[in-house]
Amino acid sequence: METIIRVGIIDAMEIEFSTGGQRHRAIYAGEGEIRIDDCGKTVEKFEADGPFTLHNVTIGKQFHWQQCEDQTFLGRLRLTAEGGMLHAINNVDIETYLKSVISSEMAATNNIELLKTHAIISRSWVLQQMEPRTTEELPLELPETEEGEEVIARIWDHDDHTFYDVCADDHCQRYQGITRQVDPKAEEAVEATRGLVLIDGNGELCDTRFYKACGGTTERFSACWQDRDHHYLQPVHDPYCHPAALDRLPGGRKEVMNLVLNHYDRATSDYHDWEERIETSVLSARIEERLHRGLGDIVDLEPLVKGASGRIVWLRIKGRNGSVVVGKELLIRKVLSDSHLKSSCFTVEKRCDSNGHAEFVLHGKGWGHGVGLCQIGAAAMSLQGFGCEDILKFYFQGAHIGPYSPKNP
Ligand SMILES: [Zn+2]
Ligand SMILES: [Zn+2]
Repeated sequence: METIIRVGIIDAMEIEFSTGGQRHRAIYAGEGEIRIDDCGKTVEKFEADGPFTLHNVTIGKQFHWQQCEDQTFLGRLRLTAEGGMLHAINNVDIETYLKSVISSEMAATNNIELLKTHAIISRSWVLQQMEPRTTEELPLELPETEEGEEVIARIWDHDDHTFYDVCADDHCQRYQGITRQVDPKAEEAVEATRGLVLIDGNGELCDTRFYKACGGTTERFSACWQDRDHHYLQPVHDPYCHPAALDRLPGGRKEVMNLVLNHYDRATSDYHDWEERIETSVLSARIEERLHRGLGDIVDLEPLVKGASGRIVWLRIKGRNGSVVVGKELLIRKVLSDSHLKSSCFTVEKRCDSNGHAEFVLHGKGWGHGVGLCQIGAAAMSLQGFGCEDILKFYFQGAHIGPYSPKNP
């Protein structure tokens, strides 16, 4: 039996949709009350078999290319009125869902092993989203600090949706139904791995995290999120994502970037080694604005705890009027940078010229949190002839590929 997942496509006060060649408009008329405009009826919920089309779906939310389009889906349409608005939900079997996800998340490629790797990762991820959560969120273990020094600790993990399992935008995995032709290679990759997921040494579904590039070594889970580590999310020395290794491949670095990155990310050539210069006065103002702690001019940035990849877990920010310690990984990236830093894997250099002009220079490595699969490394491995099993076992050591079996509630 196929697993059916509930994908939230639109949350809005009004939704326009077409089923069986007829266009309708649904309006939120209160909790559990949907008014279908063309027949004037109010219903508690509305269901119809696909294919169906949703009109004016927003894609690329919060990205510069955000736009609206009509999208067509297989499976079943379900409209509900909950939490103050309407939800258009697509109930679809997981393998059909994955064919669309792999087609829209990956650049078109003939590299079947890379597509199979992505299919197993995406399938494991979505199934994990649907499993009942049993882990209690514990308070974070804080670093040792100086007397009276404040620690600002924050982690961002995946927020669950209330009315469906996953959404259709980049927040979860991008899903556009059959609006665009499903890539035949993507279809082949999903079929070839049908029902297969990544399983850890205890027989549990793995947490299959990924990011753009590790920068040399992958990171432990606890460097970025809760203080519980999984045996398959441990530091791995990764020679594959190094720019020199990419340049030795047929097609070179450009070929790998085309496999991994969306068109708007391809300009990023400094994914492995990067440098960010921040003027001291700019940094001082930025930190004051973000943290509101009255630290005064920033005089130093001191890494207190680093993870195995070199990513800073806890960073002391020292100002003329005091200091604070911030962590973990993503908070550091957000506090120091205008958008956010490529990673928290950096060393700090202070420069001052004869005119009294001072700046911090961050010498960094990698792009993203570094936990789990390195996308650029995995693409490079696939071009070297490694199979999807080799790639997954390299980044998730001690894990294996196997059929999914649902947890007993
Ligand atoms: Zn989501
Ligand atoms: Zn890597």
